[in-house]
Amino acid sequence: MSDKRKSLTITDAEWEVMRVAWATQETTSKEVTDILNKKTEWKSTTVKTLLSRLVEKGMLGTTRNGNKFTYFPLVEERKSIEALSEELLTKVCSKKVGSVLASIIDETILSFDDIDQLERLLKEKRKSAVKEVPCNCIQGQCQCHLVK
Ligand SMILES: [Zn+2]
Repeated sequence: MSDKRKSLTITDAEWEVMRVAWATQETTSKEVTDILNKKTEWKSTTVKTLLSRLVEKGMLGTTRNGNKFTYFPLVEERKSIEALSEELLTKVCSKKVGSVLASIIDETILSFDDIDQLERLLKEKRKSAVKEVPCNCIQGQCQCHLVK
């Protein structure tokens, strides 16, 4: 795993904070606490800890104005979402990735535009499709090795 990918790996709690930073583009610990109180019961000290961890990880930048700190995202939302889906798909045998994608699509509400995009993508993917996806697992972590 490259260092770059590692730095984009954040916890679920940190992700909640990043979503506020991406949405607001510039925020304070008070604002993050107020917004997230609609779905969490995190105290301001918890939010402050999460913010400083995200600064340490290079996900957020911070500026100080008197005794007031503002935070802004240093990593694009799109990049983080890419890293998130990449991370998810490395957790399963590459032979199963197709069915994971299918179940994600199955459980998702899609617009006509989304479906057009997916159809175009799949048509393109067919050109480079393989007969059988090779297993990328170590022996003992999936059943692919057992059938051989
Ligand atoms: Zn496997």
